[in-house]
Amino acid sequence: MDAKIIDGREFAAAVRGKVKDHVTRLASEHGIVPGLAVVLVGEDPASQVYVRSKGKATVEAGMKSVEHRLAADTSERELLALVDQLNNDSSIHGILVQLPLPEHLKEDLVVNAIDPAKDVDGFHISNVGLLGTGRKSMVPCTPLGCLMMLRDHHESLSGLEAVIIGRSNIVGRPMAQLLIGDSCTVTVAHSRTRDLPEVVRRADVVVAAVGRPEMVQGNWVKPGATVIDVGINRVDAPERGEGKTRLVGDVDFERALQVAGAITPVPGGVGPMTIACLLANTLTACCRSNGVPEPDGLTV
Ligand code: NDP
Repeated sequence: MDAKIIDGREFAAAVRGKVKDHVTRLASEHGIVPGLAVVLVGEDPASQVYVRSKGKATVEAGMKSVEHRLAADTSERELLALVDQLNNDSSIHGILVQLPLPEHLKEDLVVNAIDPAKDVDGFHISNVGLLGTGRKSMVPCTPLGCLMMLRDHHESLSGLEAVIIGRSNIVGRPMAQLLIGDSCTVTVAHSRTRDLPEVVRRADVVVAAVGRPEMVQGNWVKPGATVIDVGINRVDAPERGEGKTRLVGDVDFERALQVAGAITPVPGGVGPMTIACLLANTLTACCRSNGVPEPDGLTV
């Protein structure tokens, strides 16, 4: 029997609906409107698309959206001055500096200049430390979205063997912390892992965050396992016509579908959850800064 397909679009729509309802209540009961500021430096086409869709989703959720588009040659001093201004703006509860930044700007320096309470990407070193020590933090959006889907599918994650492939700061490492927090037995695999297929075979939960098209083979997957495919890879699709491309994940979806218990597709899996979790984080940041209760189930 084929695996259950975890529909990320449907799940994300539900999260966004929940955020919107809470935003409406915040406005009527407390007169508060959450605000998200997104800063884009330069003209990277993919970043422009992301920033546009983040702004649109923010407005749709009933929040205030502010976009700052800066020239590619913006100096570090100018960018830090803007971050400082947003840190001190009480109508802004979340600040996101779209990465990657142009090469002359130090990402670490800029990210760590954001007020950790407004760090809706969860990349500030304070939030990394808080998450790593099991305390309340702002949690990076993509792993948060993965955790929400896993929690929804499993009654409990406690005691499950989880294998995360990839150890990046934005996906693999925070994912490991979150799954440790939910009492999984966690293995983090990477490019130096010996016998990756064998490591994956013991997993009840597989999170693939590698960036290599369809690398995880169907016969690596333990029967009944839950597979979360974070990868987004564009590959040639000559079957669709000359010069056409399509998106695939890090997992060979068609084969894994026949073995797994549940699996996220690409596109339509983890991707939509990332923006939904950005909205959830903005709402969480707003509730915390105003001392009002946070909605259940939108953070850890
Ligand atoms: P990185 O390139 O930062 O990290 C990739 C990781 O995969 C590294 O830890 C690397 O190991 C590991 N790796 C590379 N090759 C192998 C291999 N052959 N075997 C085992 N491990 C390997 O990527 P990101 O974490 O930023 O992103 C991963 C994927 O997720 C990408 O496709 C990206 O586009 C996608 N993504 C999707 C998001 C979404 O919203 N759906 C959000 C963020 C990312 P090592 O450390 O040893 O080099």
